[in-house]
Amino acid sequence: MTVNRALFDEVMVPNYNPSDVIPVRGEGARVWDQQGREFIDFAGGIAVNCLGHCHPALVAALKEQGEKIWHLSNIWTNEPALRLAKKMTDATFADQVYFANSGAEANEAALKLARRWALDNFGAQKSKIIAFNQGFHGRTFFTVTVGGQAAYSDGFGPKPGDIVHCDYNDLEAFKSLIDDNTCAVMMEPLQGEGGIIAPEVDFVKGVRELCDKHNALLIFDEVQTGVGRTGELYAYQGLGVTPDIMSSAKALGGGFPIGAMLTTKEIAKHLKPGTHGSTYGGNPLACAVAEAAFDTINDPAVLAGVKEKEVLFKQLLNDINAKYDVFSGVRGQGLLIGAVVNDKFKGRAREFLVASMEQGLMSLVAGADVVRFTPSLVISEEEIREGMARFEKAVASLV
Ligand SMILES: *Cc1c(COP(=O)(O)O)cnc(C)c1O
Repeated sequence: MTVNRALFDEVMVPNYNPSDVIPVRGEGARVWDQQGREFIDFAGGIAVNCLGHCHPALVAALKEQGEKIWHLSNIWTNEPALRLAKKMTDATFADQVYFANSGAEANEAALKLARRWALDNFGAQKSKIIAFNQGFHGRTFFTVTVGGQAAYSDGFGPKPGDIVHCDYNDLEAFKSLIDDNTCAVMMEPLQGEGGIIAPEVDFVKGVRELCDKHNALLIFDEVQTGVGRTGELYAYQGLGVTPDIMSSAKALGGGFPIGAMLTTKEIAKHLKPGTHGSTYGGNPLACAVAEAAFDTINDPAVLAGVKEKEVLFKQLLNDINAKYDVFSGVRGQGLLIGAVVNDKFKGRAREFLVASMEQGLMSLVAGADVVRFTPSLVISEEEIREGMARFEKAVASLV
């Protein structure tokens, strides 16, 4: 069998259009393809591979649990899930955790919980959900409808109702939407897919105050920002604004699929037995790997390292820009970084990704105008410099 990109078009549903390069092996921040070509990985599996590829702690956890027990279902609980939940609640505002398999599922649980909480406490009229334009919360029908890009939710028939959107960082517009019939507000504490857009602290504080005033739950989607990505364990901790419900996924499993919805005991009690569930959620294999990832990242030295790497990353990007003048700015927090293309390259961010691959560098985009970098949180300085040298060649090839 010839296993190549052409086979994708033959046997895979065409909802993706992947690169011609098929990676077969990874180690730390480096990846090799079928032909043995080496790449520096600044994509990190879209903010998932927080410890790079095949980190020894994760491989050890996977092997150890793989020889113990893989799956039980929710008729039985398991030690890795209980340990991980205890560690996550000890490290955050939350008292209790619901495990799922992905970010979308964690958000789906958060939204269903918010609706049920509002119904139980206030009645059916309190169902309005407010979210933000350009926000991204996953691809289930509920989460994609809450997400702020109609292009992703149109064309699938009637949508879940009572969901409205407003501009991120526009507190006045938000004020005019929220009322006593609002059950929840869902937001990313830094918009990732939407273009690496940070919130203004006054905006988030204002949203929190208005949620309190109208008895609405504030849900932070930390699927992309969580588990060290911004240099905080969770981004809310850096903002000084605490949500009522939070979702976590991506980096949580370091590459093994897992999602989590975290909340307080008072809110959690509305998800009574039978209200919600998942066959795989809280699976021992996923939780064992996530526990190892969480233990490794939840370390002040590792989190401080992310902030140091952010400085170097941005400095090198700015140096490249000073030479070639391709970006209007470099933004983001921790190792969630966006380089915004300037007018000359408007709508052409993807060309930087393609040119980078030619030079042996994996990168990402966030929309049409932002080149995005979400490398391993433990990438070495040497690998950052080598990756940036390759990125500079890619930029030079475009100007
Ligand atoms: C990636 C992402 C999701 C979706 O996660 P999946 O695991 O793909 O379902 C949700 N919210 C945010 C903020 C994300 O970045």
